[in-house]
Amino acid sequence: MDLGIAGRKAIICASSKGLGKGCAMALAQEGVEVVLNARSKAELEATAAEIKAATSVNVTTVIADVTTSEGREAILRACPNPDILVNNAGGPPMGDFRDWQRADWMQALDANMLAPIELIKATIDGMTSRRFGRIVNITSSAVKAPIPSLGLSNGARSGLTGFVAGLARQVARHNVTINNLLPGSFDTDRLKSGAVTTAGATGKTVDQVYDEWREGEASGRFGTPAEFGAACAFLCAATSGYINGQNLLLDGGTYPGTF
Ligand code: NAP
Repeated sequence: MDLGIAGRKAIICASSKGLGKGCAMALAQEGVEVVLNARSKAELEATAAEIKAATSVNVTTVIADVTTSEGREAILRACPNPDILVNNAGGPPMGDFRDWQRADWMQALDANMLAPIELIKATIDGMTSRRFGRIVNITSSAVKAPIPSLGLSNGARSGLTGFVAGLARQVARHNVTINNLLPGSFDTDRLKSGAVTTAGATGKTVDQVYDEWREGEASGRFGTPAEFGAACAFLCAATSGYINGQNLLLDGGTYPGTF
């Protein structure tokens, strides 16, 4: 299936590994020029080399912290007029809300709500004037089914979700869409760090924690970054202009609701 986006330009934030990398690879495989971003140079350059080797597209790297205004400015200098924007950043730590101070909340809001909103603000008017734009925010299944130990994530990402729900309706008539992808459990370093924390708190091994988590999945397994990327690329397709303002849960059917 040709998604009709070859030659388009995309910013994919936080994309040296995991879900962001999956999105970058999938878009590059569709012929999209990709701007990758992360804070650590070595991993980002290795990912850029891998995507270049697998595709023939232009790949640009921006070493920057997307949660800072300087970081976002550097990303936008590399790609001032993106056709596609994938918002992503690291997730907040687990914990008990009684221990969180204002600074913890501000960090979570910066990463998982305000950084995406700032990047949308900087790029969406160009998209509407060019009559093409696809914005995908990587959020979490926690927006639909809150995870008690991830209160910072539940709160910050729900704020972004509420904001986007309003904005998506304002830009649809310009062929600009904004959708959120809600990952369940994907096999990435982020999942592993959660398993390490859980193992430490429960006295189980990481393998035992993984086995229990897999058992709790309807599919009996974790998702892969490639599967996540394929869904992202589909939302960015030329023919996906009528999919807007949606929250697409990618969890292999684990969420038990009918809708
Ligand atoms: P991951 O494998 O740990 O990858 C995170 C990526 O983001 C890395 O490339 C990292 O590179 C980059 N990054 C982190 N903070 C950044 C920052 N401030 N500025 C720029 N780049 C940054 O994580 P993941 O599993 O792909 O998760 C991506 C997002 O989805 C996270 O917000 C996570 O909480 C959420 N999520 C994941 C799952 C899952 O099952 N994996 C489930 C629900 C939600 P550097 O460290 O070098 O910057």
